[in-house]
Amino acid sequence: MTVDCIFCKIINKQIPATIVAESESIIVFKDIAPQASIHYLIIPKKHIRDIQSLAPADYTIAADIIFMAQQLSQSLPEPQDFRLKISSGATAGQEVFHIHFHFLAGKRL
Ligand code: AMP
Ligand code: ZN
Repeated sequence: MTVDCIFCKIINKQIPATIVAESESIIVFKDIAPQASIHYLIIPKKHIRDIQSLAPADYTIAADIIFMAQQLSQSLPEPQDFRLKISSGATAGQEVFHIHFHFLAGKRL
């Protein structure tokens, strides 16, 4: 938990979010300002700022995120296609500094 991190507060249920999936290491919730009919955020429960900050010990977290995306895709209609998007660093457009992958599917809004 990092003080003042909005996503850590969601993980700790201090602020509400619509949680769609959860595992030991990962939590998935709906983006508050969706850009597609399905727009989830896949985040590690461990506070990590961005991809640049990943340590070798975080190797399994990176894999867990990809396999969580695969699990989420299984609830999509055929052909179960989706986009996984990440901005890593402020100049790349990152606004919340807790790693999150955007899972986008269905119609663009
Ligand atoms: P990024 O620009 O990649 O850092 O994306 C941050 C995302 O977090 C945006 O798509 C926001 O809509 C989303 N977001 C910010 N606050 C919340 C929140 N409290 N609950 C759900 N999504 C949020
Ligand atoms: Zn955090």
